[in-house]
Amino acid sequence: MGNQKVCAIVLAAGQGKRMKSSVQKQYMLLKEHPILYYSLKAFEDREEIEKIVLVVGKGEISYCRREIVENHGFQKVTDIIEGGKERYHSVYEGLKSLKEECDYVLIHDGARPFITEEMIINVIESVKKYGACAVGMPVKDTIKMVNEEDFCVHTPERAKVWAMQTPQAFEYKIIKSAYDKLMQKEIMVTDDAMVVEQFMNIPVKLIKGTYENIKITTQEDWKIAEVLMEG
Ligand code: C5P
Repeated sequence: MGNQKVCAIVLAAGQGKRMKSSVQKQYMLLKEHPILYYSLKAFEDREEIEKIVLVVGKGEISYCRREIVENHGFQKVTDIIEGGKERYHSVYEGLKSLKEECDYVLIHDGARPFITEEMIINVIESVKKYGACAVGMPVKDTIKMVNEEDFCVHTPERAKVWAMQTPQAFEYKIIKSAYDKLMQKEIMVTDDAMVVEQFMNIPVKLIKGTYENIKITTQEDWKIAEVLMEG
């Protein structure tokens, strides 16, 4: 049990179109570092994490190696690879590059700089227990399901609805096999837990992250992130 390998995939191959900025959002400076720096640093600093695969956009590999990885002295980022069209394509590239060399994998959005040490510790503990787990938070708003014309069709019980975050962690064999099945079907998925739910008969345990663990997607998120960084 002692020498089971835990690896991380950090995703930064999104185009960031919703940010409407000329610089890719993952490279924009938040306080004094690029957004992507914060999650890489969190994984680098945890002794349980053996290696990190960084997934970036087409043509960004050498920029990332120089400006993000070498510049900050990240030793554990051993692979920098090119992502794909959708998030799930990028995850799949990351999983293929890890091969069987790791027992557990943590998958994280590079656009979430507020990942904490505690979250990493908690997901590692839970993935070893349950095989599949993900960080999220109970929603504060009431959620509605709507039809094509935006009329309400269903209101799920609020106490049972969570908004998903990352990191999401899995036994490598489970998530690789789930993604192999997904790639034969090519349905749209927006997180990794969903792939396990769809294709494997394994329940995904949810654990609480924080409400600060936002994904920086739009300019409003950027403003919130700047405030959160000030602490
Ligand atoms: O697009 P979305 O907001 O779901 O992106 C979540 C994370 O996935 C971001 O960190 C983004 O860089 C990454 N991503 C990716 N490859 C894509 C799309 C998104 O690595 N094709």
